[in-house]
Amino acid sequence: MKKHKSYKFRIYPNKEQEILIAKTIGCSRFIFNHFLVKWDESYKTTGKGLSYGSCSKEIPMLKDTFDWLKEVDSTSVQTSVKHLASSQLCSSCGHQHKDVKHLGLREWTCPSCGIHHDRDVNAGLNLKQEAERILASSTVGTTGLA
Ligand SMILES: [Zn+2]
Repeated sequence: MKKHKSYKFRIYPNKEQEILIAKTIGCSRFIFNHFLVKWDESYKTTGKGLSYGSCSKEIPMLKDTFDWLKEVDSTSVQTSVKHLASSQLCSSCGHQHKDVKHLGLREWTCPSCGIHHDRDVNAGLNLKQEAERILASSTVGTTGLA
């Protein structure tokens, strides 16, 4: 017999961690929006979005332009590109919904788990999960903030 268990967690970050989370979300959001615009331009002119590789290559250049991007976990910044579209990645089951690459689509229903998403809310949930991942693996407190 198969049993399902669920756990509910609540995290209480300290001040330092809160700042790092806010910075990380801000930077991820910045990168996300930066490539979302590019993605949309590419989609309009070529009918295709951008590859992770082509976006990823630009990150070091962006970091040179915007110093503060270096302050946060680089994996998070990478991940926000990888899921550029956190907006196209189901925050509930992780299914990647290709059609959401088109920015005009503000709401969508996950074909895998059936959950209805608002694109921005879904992207926010993905970012929150990312923040929780960082907190769980974080060394903040032992190494301090950048
Ligand atoms: Zn889903």
